Amino acid sequence: MGVMSYILEKRPKRLIYLDHSASTPIDSRVLKAMMPFLAEQYGNPSGLHSQARALASALDRARTEVAEVLGCKPKEVIFTSCGTESDNLAIRGIAFSAARAGKGQHIITSACEHHAVSHTIKHLCEHFGFQQTVVPVDRYGLIDPADVKRAIRSDTVLISVIYANNEIGTIQPLAEIGEIGRQLGIPVHTDAVQAGGYLDLNVDRLRVDLLSLSGHKFYAPKGVGVLYVREGIPLLPQQTGGGHEGGRRAGTENVPYIVGLATALKLAQDIRSVENGRLIQLRDRLIRGVQAALPDAQLTGHPTQRLPHHASFVIPGVDASTLLMHLDLAGICAASGSACNTGMSEPSSILLAMGIPPQLALGALRLTLGRSTTMDDIETVLEVLPTIVERLRTTHPNE
Ligand code: PLP
Repeated sequence: MGVMSYILEKRPKRLIYLDHSASTPIDSRVLKAMMPFLAEQYGNPSGLHSQARALASALDRARTEVAEVLGCKPKEVIFTSCGTESDNLAIRGIAFSAARAGKGQHIITSACEHHAVSHTIKHLCEHFGFQQTVVPVDRYGLIDPADVKRAIRSDTVLISVIYANNEIGTIQPLAEIGEIGRQLGIPVHTDAVQAGGYLDLNVDRLRVDLLSLSGHKFYAPKGVGVLYVREGIPLLPQQTGGGHEGGRRAGTENVPYIVGLATALKLAQDIRSVENGRLIQLRDRLIRGVQAALPDAQLTGHPTQRLPHHASFVIPGVDASTLLMHLDLAGICAASGSACNTGMSEPSSILLAMGIPPQLALGALRLTLGRSTTMDDIETVLEVLPTIVERLRTTHPNE
């Protein structure tokens, strides 16, 4: 039987969505919390009348809820339009503020950052005279804190390292890196966008001074984010206008989405120990099953120090975009790396930094589970995926 007839025969009745690292659906409880601010309460939170005051109190409540999860003061929470903006504000805000104060222009980052961080630092280097040291990662995508320590110079003004990686799921030893920055008085920023729904976000335990989050990775809408900035850390605003967000990010706050983000973050943190346990069981069944059916498929990222919902592989002899297209026809939504990279036939720089050969890196597959994922979904994937891979190796070989 050809690959297309096999797919048509095996297509499951409902869509199997395994791309939760790219985006999640809005949780019905989150939508319910947002609805009054979309329909009935529409004032501008900066105003003085009753409609405005209702919005201002909702904004205050949301800020307090987020602060409780982060273990920080409400005034240390800035609401933004997305994770990318949070990363930009953190990096540019610290970099320009430090350069203006004559502290230096050197930034330390890692080889496994999202483009929201790596391209921002590159832009600062190419256009504003900054310099960067990119610390390497090992074959699991792990940063060695000793490398971060070695990279520090007298003109280092920022360390920015990801908490958990979007492509490979590896969780970094963030608190150790944070401690290095703390000892030397260098601000530490983390892109915690992928960690938001799953890991501890207490900024004191993590020893970080700035932390970025994005609502749509934990069942809130797209287009809303958070930047935590520790009190006393100088940050030059990057968007000027009104005095919103303590003068650090101008623009009328998107209250319905902010309420959604706060509700979703609290919910995710409340259920995370139980939900993470369930996801780990499903993820490990998926990883073992793929490895049993496709013995040459290689798990990417750390085998245990990884996000609970995240399974990623490189599969020899297949091209990721062809595989994704065939999985999609079979009713399975998957990804090859980060959503921003999907559709590009360049091998991922993160996989290359881990020592994976370019040709093999083109066969990257990422399956990220979520609240709606069941063991039946995993068993269906385990039945369909190996067959599609084997048939594509014959019909569309990638050698
Ligand atoms: N950082 C990481 C690690 C991500 O995975 C993403 C999105 O995929 C972002 C930043 C960007 O977040 P947003 O889509 O909210 O701009």
